[in-house]
Amino acid sequence: MAFWPSVVVATPAHSGVGASLTYRSELLLRPGTLVRVPLGAREVLGVVWDCATTPPEGLTEAKTKAVAGVLEGLPPLNDRWRQLVRFAAQYYQRSLGEVALAALPPQLRDLSNVQLARRLKRRAQASADGPGPAGDVAAGHDLSDEQRQALDALADAKAPVLLFGATGSGKTEVYLQATQRALFSQAEAQVLVMVPEINLTPQLEARFRERFEPLCGAGAVVCLHSGMTPAQRLSSWLAAHTGQARIVLGTRMAVLASLPGLRLIVVDEEHDPSYKSQEGARYSARDLAVYRGKVESEALEANARCQVVLGSATPSLESWHAADQGRYLRLAMPARIGGGALPRLRLVDMNHQPKGAVLAPPLIAAMAERIERGEQCLVLLNRHDCGWKSACPHCSAYRVFHKLDRTLRCHHCGFTERVPRACPDCGNLDVAPVGRGTEQVEEQLAGLLADVKRPDGGPARVARMDADSTRLKGSLEVQLATMHSGEVDVLVGTQMIAKGHDFRRITLVASINADSGLFASDYRAPERLFALLMQAAGRAGRDAAQSATSEMWVQTWYPQHPLFASLKQHDFPAFATTQLTERLSAGMPPYGHQALLRADARTQQAAQAYLNAAAQAAVGLPHFEDVTLYPAVPLTIQRVANVERAQLLVEAASRGALQRFLTAWQPVLLQTRSLPEARGLVRFAVDVDPLVI
Ligand code: ADP
Ligand code: ZN
Repeated sequence: MAFWPSVVVATPAHSGVGASLTYRSELLLRPGTLVRVPLGAREVLGVVWDCATTPPEGLTEAKTKAVAGVLEGLPPLNDRWRQLVRFAAQYYQRSLGEVALAALPPQLRDLSNVQLARRLKRRAQASADGPGPAGDVAAGHDLSDEQRQALDALADAKAPVLLFGATGSGKTEVYLQATQRALFSQAEAQVLVMVPEINLTPQLEARFRERFEPLCGAGAVVCLHSGMTPAQRLSSWLAAHTGQARIVLGTRMAVLASLPGLRLIVVDEEHDPSYKSQEGARYSARDLAVYRGKVESEALEANARCQVVLGSATPSLESWHAADQGRYLRLAMPARIGGGALPRLRLVDMNHQPKGAVLAPPLIAAMAERIERGEQCLVLLNRHDCGWKSACPHCSAYRVFHKLDRTLRCHHCGFTERVPRACPDCGNLDVAPVGRGTEQVEEQLAGLLADVKRPDGGPARVARMDADSTRLKGSLEVQLATMHSGEVDVLVGTQMIAKGHDFRRITLVASINADSGLFASDYRAPERLFALLMQAAGRAGRDAAQSATSEMWVQTWYPQHPLFASLKQHDFPAFATTQLTERLSAGMPPYGHQALLRADARTQQAAQAYLNAAAQAAVGLPHFEDVTLYPAVPLTIQRVANVERAQLLVEAASRGALQRFLTAWQPVLLQTRSLPEARGLVRFAVDVDPLVI
């Protein structure tokens, strides 16, 4: 007797290979079983998706290859996991095999059964060695009233929860206690906690270990992120898949981990753009988390749920809107722990500062004062800086400055114009982007603060933290430690210094070049800027005793901008309402739905020709009437490593229509690739719900 399993393997999204391949097997293989199968000359890892007892039409035993082997000792991936993968592949327009195999640890492909057995044994040993579950409740903080109310509401919630908690309101403690409750709800319960960048928050991992290892044993908490070695990733994945790990802490990739006992998913800083993958299947881990929670809940008994908690002080407008509509349950924690106030906003009008000053004299004076009192300052730099805007005459979107040919282009309609030599608004001759490196600012600050003394009589110390200074393994931890210990008085850095850190002695945070976010071409730029400034402000005055005197300084050429009015009041809801009103009138997300078709080619012309040909070929496809295809335009950074990049925007009023159109378009995109117009095309990709257009 033979069986006919259909197996998904890692096929490139556009290889043209169907969703799964049929093999032959002596054994009835359960769906989700991990197998090795021959593919061409190689043997590859695959996941059994189905197993038929009769051969599919047209296949005979002679024509079909046999499954080479089963990965022994591993339980099959369950139905919910496969449903999640199927959804992700469909929604983000990729092949099933690509998504399924990308969700598995790469090392799984190379292990023999003997090696695998050894790994499994080692893992089992590791968790048996630790202290057993203590059973009694670990010591947490006594919850604040707000924290308690949020936890209670969370227990009864029938929808995903949006935990809208101010910076320093104690969201982490809510996650910890919700985790604890989920773990004790059922013997095999597991919890997934996602963070944007795990390296930036070593504190969080420490807190979860400290709280739960005594309760659930060593090995109960594992991490999953791309900074781990292949062996570490395999080990964590196996622990999660076999149920030994009770808590998985990870970045966006963790959303696809196999977690058979999943009962709670936390997405911390849910607004963070790094939850959206920018390569391969361009999925949003936050959105998949919500979907996953629903699938897991449906499989549980009537009154049990796999709860999803999205936490942020500055939620994404998508989530905010979902809460407005009642699809998510919004729980607010506006107060900081200890009753501390949020820092006062001080706007520095750069129009009234000495010409050419990067750092305004009043800001330097304020910093000096803090340092002399033994307090710390944080200076935040925005990476891109092109302070010039121009409204497109044809669209509501702003245009983008293309440095290469000094043109401005609207990314919505493609309208192009030569850039004037000087800014028509303020006469500034320097319209070109003026990136000011953290290094330069660090040097300048050190000079300007040279005569300032700390309370111990020593000179003020300035340090820098950015992608460069933290490249070496461990250097980030060291730099964070010097800040926590008070060795450093002023820390200069990019976005990464604004996120999540619980520095206790910072009383002044300064943003020195945020204006580009006010007028960028990208309609999400204000949302991102507001979040960044709120997060940065949240680093100041975390010690309630110092919070009354803590300040957030912002240097700007546009102090009258309405964004600052909301920021001054720490009023995210007001800001969100304004933004959502604008989005509604422009038909932008979350009201309209978008996808990008991106093309890389040897010439810009070829990239655009492919895109426009693909748009031509879309005429008449199902739901073509319901979508709008815009002309191809170059990307803001249009040339990377000698590859020219272009994109084409697709918009629809309904998510369903967009989805159905894209599905019908997919084979057409493949066919278009072999047309003469597409000569020179390197690759194409579809980005559904893109973050940047
Ligand atoms: P958030 O993530 O909301 O910015 P955190 O979770 O980092 O805030 O909490 C801020 C600080 O308050 C942390 O140092 C934390 O240990 C402390 N904290 C949280 N909850 C309580 C509580 N109930 N009682 C005392 N301290 C608390
Ligand atoms: Zn100007």
